Amino acid sequence: MIRVRFAPSPTGFLHIGGARTALFNWMYARSQGGKFILRIEDTDLERSKKEYLDEILISMKWLGLDWDELYLQSDRFEIYRGYAKKLLDQGLAYQDGTAVILKMPQKQIKIYDLIRGEIDFETETLKDQVLLKSDGSPTYSFACVIDDALMEISHVIRGEDHISNTPKQIVIYEALGLKIPKFAHLPLIMGTDGARLSKRFGAVAVSDYQKEGFLPEALVNYLMLLGWSPGSNQEKVPMAQALKSFSIKKINKAAAAFSLDKLKWLNTQYIKELDTVKLVELLLPLLKEKEFWDDDFDRKKLENIIDLYKGRISTLNDFLDWTDYIFIEKIIVDSEAKEKLGADRSKEFCSLGEQLEKLKDYQPEIIEKVFRELVDELGLNAKDLIHPMRVVLTGKSVGPGLFETMAVLGKEKTVKRLKEAQFN
Ligand code: GLU
Repeated sequence: MIRVRFAPSPTGFLHIGGARTALFNWMYARSQGGKFILRIEDTDLERSKKEYLDEILISMKWLGLDWDELYLQSDRFEIYRGYAKKLLDQGLAYQDGTAVILKMPQKQIKIYDLIRGEIDFETETLKDQVLLKSDGSPTYSFACVIDDALMEISHVIRGEDHISNTPKQIVIYEALGLKIPKFAHLPLIMGTDGARLSKRFGAVAVSDYQKEGFLPEALVNYLMLLGWSPGSNQEKVPMAQALKSFSIKKINKAAAAFSLDKLKWLNTQYIKELDTVKLVELLLPLLKEKEFWDDDFDRKKLENIIDLYKGRISTLNDFLDWTDYIFIEKIIVDSEAKEKLGADRSKEFCSLGEQLEKLKDYQPEIIEKVFRELVDELGLNAKDLIHPMRVVLTGKSVGPGLFETMAVLGKEKTVKRLKEAQFN
């Protein structure tokens, strides 16, 4: 039976690296019909915080990484003390005050890592190891070994930063006469600057990505590609397919580079393919929070807006930046857009506004027809008006097709903005 675990310490939020470790464990369990165990390593009573624990659980759920069993190490102190006593009784450990310390044997330790192959360690350099601290709490390695054994973990899949802990843990397994699991150490995740992913890099907490409007499916898809690939250059990998081809052997040894641009690209794809009705549900709370939404607003209209922007927005929040001009009365023209205003077109815009005002059926094709007729009549070039019109109507220099934009903006606001256009 495959049994794997993710063992976060609630001393911080769930970050990208932890989420990738959790995901690989989860994928391994789900692809093998095994069990995925969530073990909260909250033995450090001072640094562990309830708010971090809550956030970790929320982030795991949001990512869709459901667990089969949940344990808190703080509930298990008696178990660790029992094992410490056993080692004391056997003479394998000694006491220093109330702390319990393991004598380190001087020998070579070999592990076979499923990703990195054989790794040799000399224990000569290892000092005797504290198992229980003087306050009676277990150290990370001691609790980890006992739990991995009692929870019958078959594969320990964790970050490469834990390789150096492995020989110490093997010594503990051997002293306790417990079965040693298989190990797989995942490559580190680097920022694009080649340094380890850190706060300096920007958002590292999963909850930050949630707040920025990434979809969990896109983030999960992106995380799975950090060190693993389905064997082709395919980037958008549906989970069902990934689970069919997932294997620990295919995980890369080399560090993986985290690219926000690639994540955004993937998120754009996922948003594009999401059902519009579902997107309405996801965007409504954001629109309300920004006070862009009042309940008279027609949902059908919102769906049209979403359809127009779907392939363009890279996050849900991005939607608000792109479409703010539809929801607010007075738009702010960004400086880049201002430069596109060009010659004073107030007269032309006024005439167009008057023509549009008469329309009963305010649809893109009809708007375009009215516009083209006016442009011909005035002997102008369409593009002379299109760029400044976009600026005057939306405050932006780029966006989807202008006539569709005018349709989603609605007749009233379009006419008003055309008539009141300022060019200085
Ligand atoms: N609590 C450890 C951590 O958060 C777990 C390490 C392990 O998976 O053994 O890094």
